[in-house]
Amino acid sequence: MMYVSTRDKKNMVTAAQAITHGLANDGGLFLPQGIPSFSIKDIKSMINKSYIDRAVMVLSGFLTDFTEEELKRAVSSAYTPEKFGEVPVPLVQLGNNTAVLELWHGPTSAFKDMALQLLPYLLTMSLEKTGETSRIVILVATSGDTGKAALEGFADVAGTQIIVFYPSEGVSDIQKRQMITQEGNNVNVFGIQGNFDDAQTGVKEIFSKASIRETLHKNGFIFSSANSMNWGRLAPQIVYYFSAYVDAVKAKKISLGESINFVVPTGNFGDILAGYYAKMMGLPVGKLICASNNNNVLTDFINTGKYDKNREFFKTTSPSMDILVSSNLERLLYIVSGENDVKIKERMEALKATGVYEITEAERNKIQEDFFGAWVDEIEVKESIKRVYDDYKYLMDTHTSVGYRALKKYRMLTDDNSYTVVLSTASPFKFSDAVLGALENNDRIKGAPFDILRKLAEKTGEEIPQRMLALEEAPVLHGRVIEAANMENIVLDSLIKG
Ligand SMILES: *Cc1c(COP(=O)(O)O)cnc(C)c1O
Repeated sequence: MMYVSTRDKKNMVTAAQAITHGLANDGGLFLPQGIPSFSIKDIKSMINKSYIDRAVMVLSGFLTDFTEEELKRAVSSAYTPEKFGEVPVPLVQLGNNTAVLELWHGPTSAFKDMALQLLPYLLTMSLEKTGETSRIVILVATSGDTGKAALEGFADVAGTQIIVFYPSEGVSDIQKRQMITQEGNNVNVFGIQGNFDDAQTGVKEIFSKASIRETLHKNGFIFSSANSMNWGRLAPQIVYYFSAYVDAVKAKKISLGESINFVVPTGNFGDILAGYYAKMMGLPVGKLICASNNNNVLTDFINTGKYDKNREFFKTTSPSMDILVSSNLERLLYIVSGENDVKIKERMEALKATGVYEITEAERNKIQEDFFGAWVDEIEVKESIKRVYDDYKYLMDTHTSVGYRALKKYRMLTDDNSYTVVLSTASPFKFSDAVLGALENNDRIKGAPFDILRKLAEKTGEEIPQRMLALEEAPVLHGRVIEAANMENIVLDSLIKG
């Protein structure tokens, strides 16, 4: 299986190369040239397999330059019971035809662990395969969850160095604590004065600057990316769609072959794109419901075919979805345009220049066959957290609540009552002030962050993740806050002067 760039399909690489480089040098995203196909019999064979074996099955279809033994080694090193518990991805039933897929039992209590615990293994194996001898530098701009998940994944991984920039006043207390206490010999973390976009712009500039690349290359470093533009992050996310499906069959909630829906709280369009891949591979999926918060650029896009990022940016209680440019949409566009790389390049250039592009009616119809877009406001997020807790004694975080409420809207508008899995992307404790506020009808929960955690635990009887609790006493190792304009120097200093 070879991989091509969305902006130039003649730019063709192996899986190992796609993972090593992260982004294509023409600015496009790599995607597989074909889709491995799974029959119902294949899917049936997963029912009694462990999550690790399910993952090996799915990944072998895409990462054909890895042997099955290599994949098994990578996957079993990533999803250990110590890091993910005995059941890495539990499917929790809420009533008859709805279930929640808990993707946050990894080390940082957010779904990004599912990919970022595995990526370092895939990346180091890829380095060996491509003969790359330089040390890989992972540069991350984060609005909170990606930074910590990447730090946890790459800390002390041989041959890698990781540098994370976060907006010093733009992440939750717990998220900041998680990052500034990170241990590891190869990690650097900096707060920047500015917002997430400043951090992201800074990182993109460093990435694309030839002079820095040359300086680093001379000193034995190359850049790679741990964000969801790297195929090595997308592929592991396809696995849990299959896993949820066969677990629902196993629990006798659906029959084998029956079509089900998924709801995905969406930001960068990575997670939901993985669901689309699962569907293209043959998993019986009806609709993929793309759930957005107040930053509803994707809802509008799915409904109208026009992508327009020129709009107000809202800071919401589901910050990991506060995004106006969903990078992974580029891969979907490539597919629905009939692999028209020229058109994709034009549109992405238009997006950069004007903030707008429009797709054809045929493309929009094609997208609407598989996707439904719905968005949820801040009041609805809180209402649903409380309602689901009162009705089912089930505690959801704010992002999951966006998904749950989007499903309510979908069902009201369509009378499609198919069995539906809501992807739960974060532990409720990660956003405990908003979650406690929802339960208590109080918009201004006060108190020290760890006191709020304990209050939420007391009120609900839910257990605070041990690793989160340990942060309270952990020493601060990365207290520095820098100016955004200074990021480039900081990168060079951290790597070269050490
Ligand atoms: C990153 C994230 C999302 C959005 O996922 P995408 O792949 O960017 O669409 C949703 N919820 C949480 C908690 C996240 O960390």
